[in-house]
Amino acid sequence: MKKHYTVLIIGGGTAGIMVAARLLRSFKMLHGNIGIVEPTDVHYYQPLWTLVGGGVLDKKKTGRNMRTVIPKEADWIKARVESFSPYQNSITTLDKNIFTYDYLVVAPGIQVNWNGIKGLRETLGKNNVCSNYSYEHVHYTWETIRTFKGGNAIFTHPNTPVKCGGAPQKIMYLAEDAFHKSGVRKQSNIIFESANPAIFDVEKYRKSLEKVIERKGINTYFREHLIEVEGEKKQAIFEDLETGCRIKKNFQMLHVTPPMEAPTFIKNSLLADEKGWIDVHKYTLQHKSFSNIFGLGDASNLPTSKTGAAIRKQAPVVVKNIIDLMQGRPLEAQYDGYSSCPIVTGYNKLVLAEFDYNKQPKETMPFNQAIERRSMYYFKKYLLPMMYWRGMLKGRL
Ligand code: FAD
Repeated sequence: MKKHYTVLIIGGGTAGIMVAARLLRSFKMLHGNIGIVEPTDVHYYQPLWTLVGGGVLDKKKTGRNMRTVIPKEADWIKARVESFSPYQNSITTLDKNIFTYDYLVVAPGIQVNWNGIKGLRETLGKNNVCSNYSYEHVHYTWETIRTFKGGNAIFTHPNTPVKCGGAPQKIMYLAEDAFHKSGVRKQSNIIFESANPAIFDVEKYRKSLEKVIERKGINTYFREHLIEVEGEKKQAIFEDLETGCRIKKNFQMLHVTPPMEAPTFIKNSLLADEKGWIDVHKYTLQHKSFSNIFGLGDASNLPTSKTGAAIRKQAPVVVKNIIDLMQGRPLEAQYDGYSSCPIVTGYNKLVLAEFDYNKQPKETMPFNQAIERRSMYYFKKYLLPMMYWRGMLKGRL
């Protein structure tokens, strides 16, 4: 087994594969000299889990065998990283193998903390408690929506960073639409419980989503955070983040977006900032203390929304800056904080939010993307997955 790589990449998710594919396309000398450390067998296109939960797609269609997405000119090291020794330019895996590198790219994604809500783990996947954030349970979201007969349907957004900040509400809009179709909307009370102060933090899209919420008759509660679920009693307990009071609510459906955090092995490493995220310069994506290390994706401390769309703009910056570093040039490529969130507002409607570090819209289409559009729904459902598998993961887009 090879033990040294010019570029070692941690994580074969969206960010790791995009960087590997782009490096290999732009620099032929790297063929055979890139190692990707990734422990799992399946690569998921997670944005489609919203549509799986909404009953539009079979969840099996969202994953592909890892072997088919790892570029053939790179080595797949099927292992889990346990620790970093950045002064020795090495990493150690859980099975105690040590690999050294000239350049390191760190992209292990975000850690979902299912234990962060008391009682959640025990009841997830039953008692009408569901979550699109778990591949294992995502089909149960649709099962819960499909069999819903009325009462309180609660959708939560936690008090931590999450991947795709729009996903906690997208499934709520789909459920509202589904309840109309199944004839139970009149006897349903749809509730959005968010730890955030508003429905979206980019003003242009916030205004648009507030209209959606009004039209759909959804009741919103902000600055409230789910802390406990009593599955069998169908009760959810929230903390009011302003007063610290506990609030109990009954539910007939509960869709939970669990708290999320930096992966533990990153938190415990010299690569972490004070909150545990990979500590990188926000424009160059180079690590603040170790110049031959770069970080991107959900595990980084970039102050923008954690999405695959953001990674599409981060990956070319990492690649250009690594190549410049290798060739002794100053790092010129800069990331502007671009992120995007296709907010599904119904079975054939979507608001395509695109913005930067300054929370200013940065729209790609030649029309106002804050308006709900059928064309953008089909863009998400059909075109984006195709662009992902055939373009982005191949380093072409
Ligand atoms: P991931 O893609 O999660 O990959 C991380 C990889 O690192 C994994 O393969 C993991 O196995 C590996 N890893 C973890 N620990 C270790 C270790 N110790 N050693 C080695 N490897 C390790 N984004 C959008 O752009 N648009 C959307 O509409 C959208 N909707 C979403 C809806 C849902 C329900 C969800 C869950 C996500 C959504 N996202 C969306 C977010 C998007 O999927 C993520 O932002 C993106 O996948 C993050 O990429 P990443 O490479 O940082 O992490």
